[in-house]
Amino acid sequence: MPDTLRDLIEELALANRILAHEGVLDAFGHVSVRHPADPGRFFLARSRSPLLVEPADILEYTLDSEPVRPAKVRLYAERVIHGCIYQARSDVMAVCHHHAAAVLPFCVAGKPIVPVFHVGATIGAEIPFWDQHDEFGDTDLLVVKPEEGRSLARALGQHSVVLMKRHGATVVGGGLKELVSRSIFLCQNAEYQLRAHLLGAPTPLHPGEITLAGALNLKPSVVDRTWEYWRLRLAAAGGSPPRAGAAKAGRRGKRRGKR
Ligand code: MN
Repeated sequence: MPDTLRDLIEELALANRILAHEGVLDAFGHVSVRHPADPGRFFLARSRSPLLVEPADILEYTLDSEPVRPAKVRLYAERVIHGCIYQARSDVMAVCHHHAAAVLPFCVAGKPIVPVFHVGATIGAEIPFWDQHDEFGDTDLLVVKPEEGRSLARALGQHSVVLMKRHGATVVGGGLKELVSRSIFLCQNAEYQLRAHLLGAPTPLHPGEITLAGALNLKPSVVDRTWEYWRLRLAAAGGSPPRAGAAKAGRRGKRRGKR
């Protein structure tokens, strides 16, 4: 856990960019983190493509998914996904909603993603499906109403991932690094599962393997190692977010001309 709120907000901006750089988030999708000292609050960026998110874009929200301080910026339409899951799950400290290309074939076909390789154990033994149409009929498929968010949170239950039919996925974690790790390994698992079908029916991990390997993959030493790897991959591509202080200086115009 970062030492200060400023560090946490920088980490959230970095998580946005890592998840975009690794192909989990694209122009859409979002990631949030719960306030470590106030479980009734969470942090989420203003409506912006995740690859561009800077610390200055991060807003604080109540669990009703409304900004704590009035904001003139555009907000994510689907922010109720975050607030409703934080309301339903006190253990959840971070949430990611995405439409990753790797998982969409499963969302479209309605076929379950199951852990098929070592690190894939982090997604858990079972990933439930949620179909917005079941409860709400024809919609534009955006999860925008609190009752839609609550329905999704119910479908998630105590699991770590919920697949959303014809839409995408929502992933939760006990911390930001754990969430980033689970989100990326969900996509890798989905790709391997689909490709393995070319060779024959893939065999999922045994239940005991899921428990043992899943716990191993959540160790701080493991999530710190993966976080460092993805952070350096992002940096090598020139995509690191500015520091929070630098973003403030930028707003005052001091950074103009340097980018
Ligand atoms: Mn969506």
